[in-house]
Amino acid sequence: MKQYDVTALGELLIDFTSCGVSGRGNPLMEANPGGAPCNVLAMLARLGRSTAFIGKVGRDSFGDQLQAALKEAGIHTEGLQRDADVPTTLAFVHTGEGGERSFTFYRRPGADMMLHPEETPQGVIAASRVLHFGSLSMTDEPCRSATKTAVAAAEEAGVLRSFDPNLRPALWHSMEDARAQISWALAHCDVLKVADNELAFLSGTENEDGGLAWLRKNTTARLILLTKGAAGSRALMDDKDVAEPAFSVVPVDTTGAGDTFCACALHHVLEKGLGMLNEAGLRRMLRFANAAAALVTTRWGALRSMPSPQEIDSLLRA
Ligand code: ADP
Repeated sequence: MKQYDVTALGELLIDFTSCGVSGRGNPLMEANPGGAPCNVLAMLARLGRSTAFIGKVGRDSFGDQLQAALKEAGIHTEGLQRDADVPTTLAFVHTGEGGERSFTFYRRPGADMMLHPEETPQGVIAASRVLHFGSLSMTDEPCRSATKTAVAAAEEAGVLRSFDPNLRPALWHSMEDARAQISWALAHCDVLKVADNELAFLSGTENEDGGLAWLRKNTTARLILLTKGAAGSRALMDDKDVAEPAFSVVPVDTTGAGDTFCACALHHVLEKGLGMLNEAGLRRMLRFANAAAALVTTRWGALRSMPSPQEIDSLLRA
């Protein structure tokens, strides 16, 4: 019995989202706790999974808020570090009419980047069934080395490694660097979740089947999950290849849709075991993950807006 089902490593930050205009005509912003790895953990915790986080925030009021948000979500914080000198990372999210987002980051530097390799608790990693990570923690040192140290520790301890690139071009020094680091991660993961735009960037083709063929040759992942926004999702494992449409909802904020999807997929992997997922199981996984992700798009924020298992079931039965 492992202590944690899933430990995630990476960025924890404040997502500022627009919430109207003040009486004096100034934009109002809401300070949402955010960051893809913790969004994934928050959904897993909603599904009853034990989770832990490894990352860094500043020793400031936003850091206090984030630490409290993790505790509220039931995520273990023994791997959460605080930086005395560098402030908590901030992201401003601009949402377009269709719910699509663009970002402005305040991270030069931000505390999440300052995680050192010796601050990745090996005991927590070894006590986990899955280590989940993304590419934001690989944009800069020292967090790049910290990520690689943690992934190596997981490999060594036989912990399943799950990777979601979560490509944010504005945070990379160059797209060549992004490609090189993501390629490293593709070669060090067992479960991989990519969005359609990431697949096109990595493979160099807009053709989905062509992109997936490229990906299969360039990753160690046995399970590949592709998300396509309102067009649904697809799963490839061994010789199995299944797709499911998205649920029809009216999105207000797509923040965390991919993270919610990823969490639900990991929940199924934990339930069945990677090798035991047959075609019907993969289909059930996609439907469940699509339903949960659709629900998140109908709410503002992500980390504190994850749907309950009952809400997901209701949408699945509707
Ligand atoms: P990411 O957030 O990583 O960019 P996607 O935008 O592909 O990921 O969304 C992940 C999943 O969320 C999709 O596969 C789909 O199930 C669900 N989803 C996203 N946008 C919508 C939408 N407009 N309507 C319904 N479901 C959606």
